[in-house]
Amino acid sequence: MTQRLPLIAGNWKMNNNHLEAIALVQKLAFSLEDKDYEAAEVVVLPPFTDIRSVQTLVDGDRLRIGYGAQDISAHDKGAYTGEISGAMLAKLDCAYVLVGHSERREYHNEDDALVNAKIKAAFKNDIVPLLCVGEGLDVRKAGGQVEHVLSQVDGALKEIPAEQAERLVIAYEPVWAIGTGEVATPADAQEVCSAIRGRLAELYSADLADKVRVLYGGSVKGDNAPGIMAEKDVDGALVGGACLKAEEFVKIIRFAE
Ligand code: PEP
Repeated sequence: MTQRLPLIAGNWKMNNNHLEAIALVQKLAFSLEDKDYEAAEVVVLPPFTDIRSVQTLVDGDRLRIGYGAQDISAHDKGAYTGEISGAMLAKLDCAYVLVGHSERREYHNEDDALVNAKIKAAFKNDIVPLLCVGEGLDVRKAGGQVEHVLSQVDGALKEIPAEQAERLVIAYEPVWAIGTGEVATPADAQEVCSAIRGRLAELYSADLADKVRVLYGGSVKGDNAPGIMAEKDVDGALVGGACLKAEEFVKIIRFAE
């Protein structure tokens, strides 16, 4: 079995101007020790307007903190007012990009076909997509979470070849747990994360499924992270609210201690 390095990614959402971004990354870098980077990959996902500042800080101080974006255009370039292309993100050395976050699906009507096109745009620019999937409360109450999530995975991965899919990261984020303080139980997270891995094995191979990191996201905090991350198929966390405070984010990064 592949030893998958846990990934702890902080989705800043629409928080922090570029000066606040610098302060937060500096605080994070100051708090983290070598052992932390060996135990987990640490990534921040700031708003577009902060990425250049984060890049300058990471490069200048040779920080081991990775960074990426929260969205990517499905288009290469041209008359798409307000959009940011994969080539632009690649030029800023973004390693990751969130795709299909539930807030994009809900407020911007992003469907699986658009999510699929954005995954293609990311890979085309050598950026790793961090694909978000998850069910709403009604689906969960009806017990349809696995079926719902697997259909999102199928839609997102259409025509994505194995050599790309093996680099993908998938975050299981139940919509009812995002920003609500209502975290999934470790067993809930494991059920869906293992089903996602199973679907990757069906779509590609057991070998590939074994390599892909599957994260959990939804009200992760320092105190609930150890229980969730102890599950066999949970390889890290996508963190929203709790990543805005360096001390809390560091606690999550140190989930194994
Ligand atoms: C998210 O937005 O991806 C998220 C997981 O948010 P929160 O941690 O605040 O629930």
